Amino acid sequence: MSVALESRLLPTYPETKIGFVEGEGTWLTGSDGRRYLDFAAGIAVVSLGHRHPAPLAAAHAQLDRLWHASNLFATEPAAELAQALSARFGGAQAFFCNSGAEANEAAIKYARKATGKAGVLALEGSFHGRTLGALAATGQASKRKAFEPLGPARFATPNDIASLYAAADAHVGLVLVEPVLGEGGVIPLDPAFVAAAAARANELGAVLAFDEVQTGVGRTGTFFAWEQLGVKPDLVTLAKALANGLPIGCLLVSDDAPRAFGPGDHGSTFGGNPVSCAAGVAVVSTIDDELLASVRANGERLADGVADLPGVAEARGRGLLLGAVLDRPAQPVADAALDAGLVCLTAGPDVLRLAPPLVVGPDEIDHALEILTEVLA
Ligand SMILES: *Cc1c(COP(=O)(O)O)cnc(C)c1O
Repeated sequence: MSVALESRLLPTYPETKIGFVEGEGTWLTGSDGRRYLDFAAGIAVVSLGHRHPAPLAAAHAQLDRLWHASNLFATEPAAELAQALSARFGGAQAFFCNSGAEANEAAIKYARKATGKAGVLALEGSFHGRTLGALAATGQASKRKAFEPLGPARFATPNDIASLYAAADAHVGLVLVEPVLGEGGVIPLDPAFVAAAAARANELGAVLAFDEVQTGVGRTGTFFAWEQLGVKPDLVTLAKALANGLPIGCLLVSDDAPRAFGPGDHGSTFGGNPVSCAAGVAVVSTIDDELLASVRANGERLADGVADLPGVAEARGRGLLLGAVLDRPAQPVADAALDAGLVCLTAGPDVLRLAPPLVVGPDEIDHALEILTEVLA
């Protein structure tokens, strides 16, 4: 990838060392011609692996039929995807958009309309997206600072029940949490804390939303992470893995949640795009019990292996969303792993984040562990 091509992009991302030109399953081909084992999956997006045959065939077929008709008309793929997600959730309606931030914007607007209250209670270290509403709920001062003033938000401490009471007041209309804080360091929430957040939302007359943009669609070993926590939320937001790499976002509203949106309250020109939704239908039907069982088994194998690596103080996460808390800065470790042929992510200064495609096998996990053993030695 030539430097001249990159130089006309606004520098919102760190300079990249390498470009990728092709993907197949859990492997990427670099512009340097080398093969890389992909334990990042495009930031937990390409969950079925690169060019998985099911979404590939569905997207191809839809490309050949109809690309776009607008939300003034019905299209089959959006209706089918909404049906499939409702069945997985146990009764819900869907609003489709194009990204995780947009899904959270929809949740924030929904809660405001449902409760008449603008306040948001979120968590320190959380990440909900870069648009102004989603950024207001993001508990990372470094990301918010240059863009203040932002909407009213309060931040509790993950897994500290008392802080849910200290932080929230009667103005809170939305309690928004990630079941596992992804960008914020791969911090799984305790079931007891999640139950307390639900109880607090109820006391405050607030809507409870889970941001499952990263944890949803099978990543943690169940279709939704909330299935492991014993609390069914009013709202769920999804994006990243839902169409295996095509742009999509989704707000799911439980049939048990208060009603809020009617015609004219919200919209998105590209939301519900037939090609993305057709891929999404194929993704949802591919994530069956067998695949989820293998996510749990391989997640355990990866977690056990990572916990034994040199320089790892703790391995935490759920399923195939894993954080290795290191005794050193994480970015140089990710850089060295890339040089050695393994793509990984970071989550905060000292956490290495691993999120391989859900179809990863035991041999690939062992191969990744070998590379990390060398890199960390
Ligand atoms: C990635 C992410 C978002 C933002 O999604 P975009 O598609 O980048 O807008 C929001 N919430 C969580 C939990 C995420 O991981």
